[in-house]
Amino acid sequence: MNTKKLRKGLKGGRSLKGGRSLKGGRRIRKITRKVNYPRCQCMSSCKQPSLEGSPFCAEHQNFCPRQPQLTGWEPAYDPDFFNKNPDLKGSHNCAAYAFGYLNPKATKDDPFPQPGNFAGYPRFSKTRRKTCPDMLARVFGDMPTVKPTTFEAGCPAKMSKIALAVDARSDYHVWRQGPDGMWSHKPGSTEVTNVDAFGRPIYDVELASRNYNKKGSHLNYNRFCGYLCVRRDKQPRMRGGVSKGPNRTRRHRTH
Ligand SMILES: [Zn+2]
Repeated sequence: MNTKKLRKGLKGGRSLKGGRSLKGGRRIRKITRKVNYPRCQCMSSCKQPSLEGSPFCAEHQNFCPRQPQLTGWEPAYDPDFFNKNPDLKGSHNCAAYAFGYLNPKATKDDPFPQPGNFAGYPRFSKTRRKTCPDMLARVFGDMPTVKPTTFEAGCPAKMSKIALAVDARSDYHVWRQGPDGMWSHKPGSTEVTNVDAFGRPIYDVELASRNYNKKGSHLNYNRFCGYLCVRRDKQPRMRGGVSKGPNRTRRHRTH
C-alpha cells in the first residue's frame, strides 16, 4: 500500500487529519480544503463568498468580530518602492519583502535571499519537497528571535507578523502584515501586491486564496504553516544566494 492510499484510508483519523501533528496534538501544518471560490476571510465558519474588491461577505462587510492585534511596527504598504525600481524588484523575493531584508545595492541578476542560507542549511533542491517543518526550521535557524503566533494574538514590541505557506511540490511563500492589518506580498521577482489569487484584498492569509492554478501557474500554496512575529527594529539575519559557482541557478524565481 502506498502512502497516498494509507493516508486516504486514515482520512478522518486524528493524527493525519489535516496534516501531521505534534505529540501534544497541536497541528504543525494544515492543508486548506479545496475552495474554488473567493471565500469570506472574516472567520473560517463563514462559508459565504467575499464581495468583489473585499475580503468579506455581505454579512461581514462592515464589521468582522475577529480582529488581529497590531503592534504599530507593521511596515507600510508601499508597492512603488519595489515595483518602480527594476533592480530592487528583480532582486527581492517574497522572503526579502516579508522579513524586511533590504539590499539597496542588489541588481536584478543577484540571487534571492532564501530562508536557511544564513544558518547554513543546504540549498533547496529541485527534487525535495517543501514542508512546513523544514521551512520553519530554516526561518528559526536564521532568525532565532522569530516567534510563532496566531491570527488574532499580538506580537511583542518592535515586531510584526508574517505568514508562511508551502506548495509541497515546489515552493514556499510569505506575506507580511501592514499597519492597517491587511496583508501584502511579493511573488518572486514580480510586483508587490496586496491581493490574493482571486484578486481579493487579504485579511487573513490562511483564509485567502493561495492557489494560482487558475491563473495558469502550477503554484498552489495550500499548506498553511502559520503566523510568525518578526523583528522590525533591525535587518533580519538573511543571506542572498549561497552559490556563486557554476551550479548557481536562478530557476526558483517564483519564491
Ligand atoms: Zn462572512
